[in-house]
Amino acid sequence: MSAVSFRDVSRVYDSVRAVDRVSFNIPEGEFFTLLGPSGSGKTTCLRMIAGFEFASSGSIAIHGQDVSATPPFARNVNTVFQDYALFPHMNVRDNIAYGLMVAGVPKAARHREAEAMLELVQLPGVGDRKPSQLSGGQRQRIAIARALINKPKILLLDEPLGALDLKLREQMQVELKRLQRQVGITFVFVTHDQQEALSMSDRICIFNRGRIEQIGSPDEIYETPKTEFVARFVGNVNLFEQGALPGLMSTERGLIMLRPERISISAGHTSERPQKIAGTVQDSEYLGAFIRYLVRAQNGLDITVHQPNLGHSQHAPRFTPGTTVGLGWDDSALH
Ligand code: ADP
Ligand code: MG
Repeated sequence: MSAVSFRDVSRVYDSVRAVDRVSFNIPEGEFFTLLGPSGSGKTTCLRMIAGFEFASSGSIAIHGQDVSATPPFARNVNTVFQDYALFPHMNVRDNIAYGLMVAGVPKAARHREAEAMLELVQLPGVGDRKPSQLSGGQRQRIAIARALINKPKILLLDEPLGALDLKLREQMQVELKRLQRQVGITFVFVTHDQQEALSMSDRICIFNRGRIEQIGSPDEIYETPKTEFVARFVGNVNLFEQGALPGLMSTERGLIMLRPERISISAGHTSERPQKIAGTVQDSEYLGAFIRYLVRAQNGLDITVHQPNLGHSQHAPRFTPGTTVGLGWDDSALH
């Protein structure tokens, strides 16, 4: 049975179709990510799962039950917001145990549960502190602990790492994924960050202007994007008209995708892979893990190449603008 099922769901505000005929199924226990630019309808979808918002048309089921008449508190779903929404006057333990207090659980039992949640998010011993005495990353963990204490079957997370700096964000990505595996419940995660979506998700649903462009595993989304939008939104990309590359038949209309890291760059004829096209380096950028080259091919195409940074080795010479180079790729790199 699906944890969440959308059938032809739309949400219209005045003239805006915020969500436009969206259908998907999320199996129980999946880490499912809604990925898309700002304003593409991600939050609106999440709010419809939570029950804060109703569909204008279509149907939504949670664990097989139509929820059109089910209020938020009866859905077995909890939400973690980007701004944490902790109560500043309450200590951490009471913040986490808030849902149990509302449910009438006695104090000793809810304190025990709150301590267990603090262990789960790897922050034992901070129960007596106020939220203001914690770092941003710690507050985010507390917000997650608070959302999990009622043992929801589905956790909704709306850009929960958006307020954290990059280093902390990367740590929390790993942490959240571990937590999801450990508790085993369904996570529906919203982000506009494609790297974050690729690294955390079992499956990704890509939104654009209220519509779904593609649903698939990170691998499928990255390797075999179904639309130009997906190819451009996830990762770096070269897109060419059919027939623009040598050795390709131009029998069909459409675009050919070639990821920059699938292209080898070499001087002369030293490349292990066969050279497909010659060109001149226009620009090079040092990006740490790799070097990005912009190469103008002989036939006029501009091609971006990512060369892995192997240090100053003879296997990966660096090329300066103006150098003539050969580019090569396996045919399997073309999509
Ligand atoms: P995302 O989370 O992907 O940034 P949203 O779901 O928040 O996108 O918004 C999708 C579209 O719906 C946007 O154009 C937004 O302006 C519009 N929208 C969202 N909520 C409302 C609302 N309460 N009233 C009017 N328009 C809204
Ligand atoms: Mg949003």
